[in-house]
Amino acid sequence: MPLLPLRGLLVYPSMVLHIDVGRDRSVAALEHAMLSNNTIFLATQKDLRVEAPENQDLYKVGTLAHVKQMLKLPNGTLRILVEGVNRAKMLHYREDKDFTVVDIEVHEDETFKDAETEALMRTVLTYFEKYAKSSNKITTETIESVLDIEEPGRLADVISSHLPFKVAEKQEILEIFNVKKRLDHLIIRLHDEQEVLNLEKKISTKVKQAMERTQKEYYLREQMKAIQTELGDRDGKTGEVADLRKKIEASGMPESTRKVALKELDRYEKLPAASAESGVIRNYVEWLASLPWSKKTTDRIDIAVAGEILDRDHDGLEKVKERVLEYLSVRQLMNSLRGPILCLVGPPGVGKTSLARSIAESLDRKFVRISLGGVRDESEIRGHRRTYVGAMPGRIIQGMKKAGTINPVFLLDEIDKMSNDFRGDPSAAMLEVLDPEQNGTFSDHYIEESYNLSDVLFIATANDLSTIPGPLLDRMEVISIAGYTELEKTMITKNHLIPKQTKEHGLKKAHIVIKDEAITDLIRYYTREAGVRGLERQVATVCRKAAKIIVSGEKKKVTVSSKVLQEMLGKHRFRYGQAETENQVGVATGLAYTTVGGDTLQIEVSLTPGKGKLQLTGKLGDVMKESAQTALSYVRSLTHKLGVDASYFDQHDLHIHVPEGAVPKDGPSAGITMATAIVSAITGKAIKREVGMTGEITLRGRVLPIGGLKEKSLSAHRAGLTTIILPKDNERDIDDIPETIREQLTFKLVSQAEEVLALALDGGF
Ligand code: ADP
Repeated sequence: MPLLPLRGLLVYPSMVLHIDVGRDRSVAALEHAMLSNNTIFLATQKDLRVEAPENQDLYKVGTLAHVKQMLKLPNGTLRILVEGVNRAKMLHYREDKDFTVVDIEVHEDETFKDAETEALMRTVLTYFEKYAKSSNKITTETIESVLDIEEPGRLADVISSHLPFKVAEKQEILEIFNVKKRLDHLIIRLHDEQEVLNLEKKISTKVKQAMERTQKEYYLREQMKAIQTELGDRDGKTGEVADLRKKIEASGMPESTRKVALKELDRYEKLPAASAESGVIRNYVEWLASLPWSKKTTDRIDIAVAGEILDRDHDGLEKVKERVLEYLSVRQLMNSLRGPILCLVGPPGVGKTSLARSIAESLDRKFVRISLGGVRDESEIRGHRRTYVGAMPGRIIQGMKKAGTINPVFLLDEIDKMSNDFRGDPSAAMLEVLDPEQNGTFSDHYIEESYNLSDVLFIATANDLSTIPGPLLDRMEVISIAGYTELEKTMITKNHLIPKQTKEHGLKKAHIVIKDEAITDLIRYYTREAGVRGLERQVATVCRKAAKIIVSGEKKKVTVSSKVLQEMLGKHRFRYGQAETENQVGVATGLAYTTVGGDTLQIEVSLTPGKGKLQLTGKLGDVMKESAQTALSYVRSLTHKLGVDASYFDQHDLHIHVPEGAVPKDGPSAGITMATAIVSAITGKAIKREVGMTGEITLRGRVLPIGGLKEKSLSAHRAGLTTIILPKDNERDIDDIPETIREQLTFKLVSQAEEVLALALDGGF
């Protein structure tokens, strides 16, 4: 049989197809075949690139074919139509001069069908149909023609000829002579092909979806841009982003912060405007851009100017102003405002805030004030992390934004009123703010970037030193302001409060005159305080009433005398002068020191027959309660001097009450007062009404020193007391008391409680 080697294709039996033949030896083989019985052996080359194949280059199983047509093409090659007849195996190979001749063994497929073959055929058909439907590459006619095939072997051959197999795979099938095995093999291959097809489909839908989405977004974005340009762009994001970028560039922020800000701005630009995140980022960038990073005012450190401004705004306060000027002088010499933080301590309304304001003015710096009263959460100082809904920077950063420069005077009001709870200790954060070593890189949870606070001049205010946490207090230079005397208050009212309030109420100087007697009345009967805040309020009320009189046309000028004042403000609110009009038994006057300045305290004691119980009322703190116990124990040790026998105390109940029961009171300094009141109650001797006293008592009757003498004497004077009993150890504090007050009071220094009793009890002890 002449051999026709095939390149890249394979002919199954019963397949009909055209083949172009060009190689000389192949043409010769064909011509020879045409001369005999038109049959030829077709064998496929293992490698289609081999030009002149020899025995080993060919698969040994091929097809015996019938040449049905032959056509000479103009270029000298032949086009033939062949039909495969049978599988055949090459047995012997011989190369003749013009073409190759082979001996072959022809194999014919079995046509007998048992049940198994039938089953296999059906399975193959099902698989094929399924494959054909999902692949889209096989026509319905083909499917139908395949369905018609009866012979199992041919069925396998036809189906595999329609599948996208490689030549080697097709050859594999060709070489399976056993029909059942061939069907079996085909089922497996069909199944595999189906799997691949499914995967292909899955991948392509994914790709398609992704394509569609990006196209849609792109389209919408383009549309939005077009709309924005159409609207003039200014309200769109683009304009806003450009504005923010300009702001960031102009803010002078450190390089690292600038990078962060620009990166966030980029993110913002890309996000859809309606998304929640977009708002959060915008807010953040806005904060970064609007904080002062390098803008600074030039300091004026001129002590003379500072002195003038302090004097202009404040009457009195000589010592305090002196201390402030000293502080500023040291800063000037050191050429920096770094150093301990100033802390102004004193009752409300004594001018702490206004002093700080004047300091800012004299330095030519911006002034900001934050109140720390009631701050109990670290995040109020340091801000919330941005992940929280509605997060904001802490008060320090907010203050800096308000200031607009990096070197304002920053007032931390009521630093003693910070408390702490489970949400963290704000004073720890304050420490970082106030420590010059650390505040160059203050970190706010919201801002995240470190912020430089080292140029800020912090000034703190407090009512009470005792509640300021120790470590904070260590960093502060404390200046105490005690409170004003009546004379000072009068001066302040005349020189500051009245001019200020008349102006604020739109009144002219000619509209209102407040007589001296009215000012004194204001101080004595309408206010009782260490500072002048209440006084300022009362002056404001007077101005308001005067404004009404003038506007209603009743009068052109209002002169406020004592009488007019009473008409305006109503009856006297406070009693001035003698607290008690008569000497009383069991009632002693103590002097107390509270956060609002000094005050007088009445201590009442009553004795009733009973079982020796001690009852304490009037909202007393622990220290004060213990002090009462100590006073009682001391008095018990005096039995023989009191003229009672030892069992007296077991047969009487004692009740100590400190009026204005709703106001909390604490401290040890009422010790001698309570002892005096108890002795008075037991002996029935009255206590001199003009005597006030203060001092801690020990069990053995020693009198220990107390604090706040200056404030206490001011309040004693206000209350109209004339004699003050105080511990001997407080002698040197008398110098601090303003002279006008000192002159009007008699001070009795004592070291033993018995001396107190002798001085205070009417008729002695
Ligand atoms: P504080 O901060 O101590 O509570 P402020 O500074 O708010 O007190 O003072 C309350 C008011 O009293 C302000 O209007 C202030 O100007 C005025 N004032 C306080 N002390 C003086 C003073 N020595 N001279 C003039 N005005 C004063």
